[in-house]
Amino acid sequence: MTATEHASLDVEAIREEFPILSRTIDDETPLIYLDNAATTQTPEPVIRAMNEFYHEYNANVHRGIHQLSMEASIEYEEAHDRLARFIGASDREEIVFTKNTTEAMNLVAQAWGRANLDADSAVVLTEMDHHASLVPFTQVAEWTGAEVRHIPVDETGHLDLERAAELVDDDVELLSIPHVSNTLGTVNPLGELADLAHEHDALILGDGAQAVPSRPVDVKALDVDFYAFSGHKMAGPTGIGVLYGRADLLESMPPFQFGGGMIERVTLDGATWADVPWKFEAGTPPIAEGIGLAAAADYLDSLGMEAIEAHEAWVTEYAHERLAERPDVTVVGPPVDEERGSLVSFTLDGVHPHDLSSILNETGVAVRAGDHCTQPLHDALDVSATTRASFYVYNTTAEVDALLEGLDVAKELFD
Ligand code: PMP
Repeated sequence: MTATEHASLDVEAIREEFPILSRTIDDETPLIYLDNAATTQTPEPVIRAMNEFYHEYNANVHRGIHQLSMEASIEYEEAHDRLARFIGASDREEIVFTKNTTEAMNLVAQAWGRANLDADSAVVLTEMDHHASLVPFTQVAEWTGAEVRHIPVDETGHLDLERAAELVDDDVELLSIPHVSNTLGTVNPLGELADLAHEHDALILGDGAQAVPSRPVDVKALDVDFYAFSGHKMAGPTGIGVLYGRADLLESMPPFQFGGGMIERVTLDGATWADVPWKFEAGTPPIAEGIGLAAAADYLDSLGMEAIEAHEAWVTEYAHERLAERPDVTVVGPPVDEERGSLVSFTLDGVHPHDLSSILNETGVAVRAGDHCTQPLHDALDVSATTRASFYVYNTTAEVDALLEGLDVAKELFD
């Protein structure tokens, strides 16, 4: 059975919606795009929604009472409602548009962290965190004197939950946990860790950058307090991300950045703040991108998040099995028979990931090589770099076969 025969998605029809997939590399080699954990491609409906904005109602939001500004404001504000529905949030007051996941995490680290952390408190991160979580929280810990603790990763690529239970005590104010690891593919038990956090009156921030694009996510069912993700990894545009925050928390937090758009009233001596979520969106926001992201949510829902999850699990499992059966390949992360996100990272004996990725590029295959912004995890794995193949709604098992053929080409060259 090939991926196109797998029942959950009509991959051929989907591929038609992504114009970039028909381009070639070097004028003749078809593109095989397996770098989706870095950025996914953009379908026509999303491009159309953004074109429509620029063709028909491009204007600044919240400020004008002319027709274009009113139309833009309505679409931009409704985009928040659309994203709220997409992840099970109550309404737009719980959805802040940011630049990306990184900015969403900085918002929590800085606005919430500075107000709530001190030398008697601690935050708990994990050894598999993306730098987008590790660096902002380590910085805010330095400023506030808070302690940073890390949940270790075991040899099967899972968080050590026994150690987590020891690390989370009553001094802990916040846990920041990747929902799906962008290097290992591990799907972490976010709901269980939310319970652990709440037993100690701590909050939990989920890094959903690798989860929201590929599986149904319900922030209320997970019982997370904050949750961050990026538009460009979920068929949406670059330049936009989302911070979900429980309404009462966002209400109580000080702003992150200051300026126009986030104020209610300004005097020469001070200011009062706009309502949430606008209090956290200083300056002209990503208007076209917000509208594009809402179109991406529509697009993904039209395919069905369960169907997307099933398709990607199918392609990922195929890739994982084919890679793991090779004696010259070491796959990192959970074993073949376990759930994982839509990616497989590995090393190939005798070929550095950067060399492999450049040889694969010559065969049209785009993968990511490096530390994937998880240097401490690579230190723990005792490798400097891995090659990561990551899949989305338009990928097929035939493309995985092309990846494997590329590995053979690389081996021949290096042997
Ligand atoms: N967290 C995870 C798990 C990621 O995979 C990424 C992107 N590689 C990020 C955070 C950062 O996303 P962005 O660059 O869009 O801010």
